Amino acid sequence: MSQNVLAETLEIEKLIAEFPSVMRVELLGHVGSQEQQFPSYCLSIGSQDPQAPVLGWVGGVHGLERIGAQVVIALLRSVLQMQLWDESLQQTLKKVRLFFIPTVNPWGIYHKRRSNAAGVDLMRNSPVDGIGEIPYLLGGHRYSNKLPWFRGNEMQMENQILLQGILKQILGSKFSWTVDVHSGFGWQDQIWFPFAYSKEPFADLPYLHRFKSFYEATHPYHFYKIEPQSYQTHGDVWDYFYLEMQKKQQRFMPLTLELGSWNWLKKNPLQVFSKEGFFYPFQSHRQKRILRRHWTLFDFMIRMTASFEKWADLDADQLELSRAHAMELWYEKK
Ligand SMILES: [Zn+2]
Repeated sequence: MSQNVLAETLEIEKLIAEFPSVMRVELLGHVGSQEQQFPSYCLSIGSQDPQAPVLGWVGGVHGLERIGAQVVIALLRSVLQMQLWDESLQQTLKKVRLFFIPTVNPWGIYHKRRSNAAGVDLMRNSPVDGIGEIPYLLGGHRYSNKLPWFRGNEMQMENQILLQGILKQILGSKFSWTVDVHSGFGWQDQIWFPFAYSKEPFADLPYLHRFKSFYEATHPYHFYKIEPQSYQTHGDVWDYFYLEMQKKQQRFMPLTLELGSWNWLKKNPLQVFSKEGFFYPFQSHRQKRILRRHWTLFDFMIRMTASFEKWADLDADQLELSRAHAMELWYEKK
């Protein structure tokens, strides 16, 4: 068995060495193949109170979409640097916990594969079965791990340690949410929320609508499309975890940030012939632009996490009104 080094892991370990007293480091485990194992880390900063509101960022679930892992590491670096001197962030971190799991599928990143070493698509791998119109193959299947979007027969180690890691961060928290960064679908950066398994609106819809309204009022020129996941699948890990957290009455909202990559191709059409074609921005100026582009959202979400009582503690009337707006916007007009 050999240990292989991923550039992203090196970057994480550099940050660990640079900020030993600020950042808590948890090695979630080693994952990969029998021959090649890679570490998977969870880095956290801020309040250690179990009840503190929590915001988490996750990346590298699909190995080919490694820009997601890099975005998460870039945000971690920025926040670590900023807390050195920014008093308002220091105050915020006294009441908020932030965590980062940047490389969920390091074997996939290393080998430029969407799946893990067992050929399993980690975002089709939970026990949740889709209902309604699930796209053939793309929606997840159990025919063969030689085909893309294979669900696998049991929860993969990458997902087990991911969910255990998140549970430790959020259990008991008064308000928690996560952003899982992907790339490869669409012209525009999209923020998706559950469900993937069905077109049913989920219970926390009113809060998503509040989040969207507040974000748009604050940043009217933002570039995200905020909506339910655009196609249905089996085995979505966030659906599964969300439903599990509901059973525990744990407040938790999983968001997916899908970086729209089709523009990268339009500007660099030859990229379509490479393996990473649809999923990774090749030109370094484009990479840099993507790495700096999401700070506004991240900063806004940190503030929203700290002040969740102001927008996410709703009485029955506010809930009903917000749900009605959300239904009209996302479900009833289509
Ligand atoms: Zn993905």
